[in-house]
Amino acid sequence: MKPSLLSTSIEFVKGVGPKKGELFNKEFGIYTVEQLLHHFPFRYVDKSKITKINEVNSDEVYVQIKAIVNNVKEIGTGRAKRLSVTIEDSSGMMELIWFKGVKWIKPKLTIGKEFVFFGKPTRYKTKYNIAHPDFEEFSVIKTSNVTLQPVYHTTEKASNGGLNSKGIEKVIKFLVAQLSRQVPENLAKDILTDLNLLSREHAIINAHQPQDYNTLKKAIFRLKFEEFIFLQLRLIKQKLIKEEKIRGHNFNEVGVTFNTFFKEYIPFQLTNAQKRVIKEIRRDLGSGKQMNRLLQGDVGSGKTLVALLSMLLAIDNDYQACLMAPTEILAIQHYHTICEFLQEMDIQVMLLTGSTKKSERSIIHEKLASGALHILIGTHALLEDPVKFKNLGLAVIDEQHRFGVKQRARLWKKNILPPHVLVMTATPIPRTLAMTLYGDLDISVIDELPPGRKPIKTVHKYDSNRSSVFGFIDKQIKEGRQIYVVYPLIEESEKLDFKDLMDGYESLSRRFPLPKYKISVVHGKMKPKDKEHEMNRFAKGETQILVATTVIEVGVNVPNASVMIIESANKFGLSQLHQLRGRVGRGASQSYCVLMTDFKLSHDAKTRIETMVRTNDGFEIAEVDLKLRGPGDLLGTQQSGVLDLKIADLAKDQIVLTAARNKALEILKDDPNLEHPSHLMMRKYMALLVKKSPNWGRIA
Ligand code: ADP
Ligand code: MG
Repeated sequence: MKPSLLSTSIEFVKGVGPKKGELFNKEFGIYTVEQLLHHFPFRYVDKSKITKINEVNSDEVYVQIKAIVNNVKEIGTGRAKRLSVTIEDSSGMMELIWFKGVKWIKPKLTIGKEFVFFGKPTRYKTKYNIAHPDFEEFSVIKTSNVTLQPVYHTTEKASNGGLNSKGIEKVIKFLVAQLSRQVPENLAKDILTDLNLLSREHAIINAHQPQDYNTLKKAIFRLKFEEFIFLQLRLIKQKLIKEEKIRGHNFNEVGVTFNTFFKEYIPFQLTNAQKRVIKEIRRDLGSGKQMNRLLQGDVGSGKTLVALLSMLLAIDNDYQACLMAPTEILAIQHYHTICEFLQEMDIQVMLLTGSTKKSERSIIHEKLASGALHILIGTHALLEDPVKFKNLGLAVIDEQHRFGVKQRARLWKKNILPPHVLVMTATPIPRTLAMTLYGDLDISVIDELPPGRKPIKTVHKYDSNRSSVFGFIDKQIKEGRQIYVVYPLIEESEKLDFKDLMDGYESLSRRFPLPKYKISVVHGKMKPKDKEHEMNRFAKGETQILVATTVIEVGVNVPNASVMIIESANKFGLSQLHQLRGRVGRGASQSYCVLMTDFKLSHDAKTRIETMVRTNDGFEIAEVDLKLRGPGDLLGTQQSGVLDLKIADLAKDQIVLTAARNKALEILKDDPNLEHPSHLMMRKYMALLVKKSPNWGRIA
């Protein structure tokens, strides 16, 4: 073996040199041969697959066309100059356009010669053309035996410096051709045999220069598997370490408070899903170890009640509990809900937010320290305030995506033993992804809505249909229902949002005038107190329409509201749309969601809206969201950066991920420290990864 090749500096590779070397450094962060070998193609062009010109029918997919150059002409002058080339195959004609590099492209396209063109068609009226296609003379291709050509990500600067996809391919092709036993294996032999995986070197070679389609598939599987298994090994190990070390309060009592509430004051039957989850939580709380549980449940699935029951268990065992919400409005809502549930019982509940008065604060502090206060509900003020619990036993965190891991940890310091933690979220994450990203959390799912709910009917309407939408609103109001009208909030242009909202409010006021109709407005520029006042008027039924920005996104509970109108729905993300829709459908009557947009919709926006119209299922929506946005966006770029995946994709490669996870579990079960001789290479490789990527330590 000659492992030195891998650590060779990139500029010494044949055909690179100092100039391109610097581009590799600066544009791709590639410094060594090993890093270059992990710059994988993101796509392959099947040179054997040719589309006929008259079969081009979409601007979504790349096509390859074999055609003869028919006409070449330059149009315009100066900066507006472009090259228009007409090509022809047996089925028809098509135009190709170049806006740049005209001087360089033109002499290559000899009229009458046959080329293979590759690019993404653009639709222009009824015809398609292709701008800046790649091309190669057909006679040249015929002699080459590789039909799968790699396509590499590049940047504009790199392209200008000779490192376009083809340039990169050339360098890598040369490197790969030389490889013979220089890339050390990093997976145990058993794993390779068990899963019938290619060797690491063979896989790398084939990922860049596939010998055929089948081998390429195997190569990619192997490389993705490799990335996932090291990630899983690390996450699972961290979890094992945690389970060993972190002891927790033992709630072994199911006492008077829980039982009394359960027998006498729960206003309805728990759903089976709620019962199951409570059981899971009870088991954790009585295990003597600290609970770290993620509770996933669609909007309206009844998570609050589960949280309350868990908090009662804490109280039964002489502990305090807190409930943290991401916004003040939501905290207030929780406070009211829980006070109402507990009104007949002798339990002290208080609210702490940014706007809690000083005098009130000191009462809270006192009661917390003495233990007189059982449940504290609030916003992140709970973390910032010099709050000292006498003995915090359980912390419930609602809508976890806004509380970071760090913030969670802050609660711990306030106690000797960390409290149990229950994180609730209505933004479902596909299970495999959750396992990966929250390796330190156990997961419970409420996959059932309380009975009697009618599925919300969702429709898409264009702005030009507004008058019919207004007519519908009027009908619903006459039936005694209430309406939400929500405007997007775009942080960069608060002013514009405000204008949109106010314009909307005005046109609504004209159509639904006083005194017959009353409208509430809530937006980000209002003081919290005024917001609360307006929200309360709506909640009490004093106003029929609530016009708002997304401040109402989470948690608001007005069962009589039956219509959710979302303005500029194309500007919302899927999970946000789903959250908003969840504000209605809480009562017995049929509810509706109307998604308003103008005619111009991007492809992704169309998909989002179609998905909303098609389904009410939060998990299905989450899957689509994940595919559209990728896990990085879903969870914040920081987290996706931490994972540092080069070829595997958490959203798309769930089968590989599951295989890797199972294997990792199997290995660690018998050999938790990877000490077995056959696992040594994996241990070494993991140490190397940790060294290279200090971020890894931060995952959990
Ligand atoms: P989310 O999971 O979105 O937080 P909530 O806890 O706000 O949902 O519950 C939504 C509504 O359903 C509330 O009005 C709540 O009182 C009610 N609810 C909760 N559990 C049940 C149940 N088992 N049967 C009937 N209604 C329920
Ligand atoms: Mg809730």
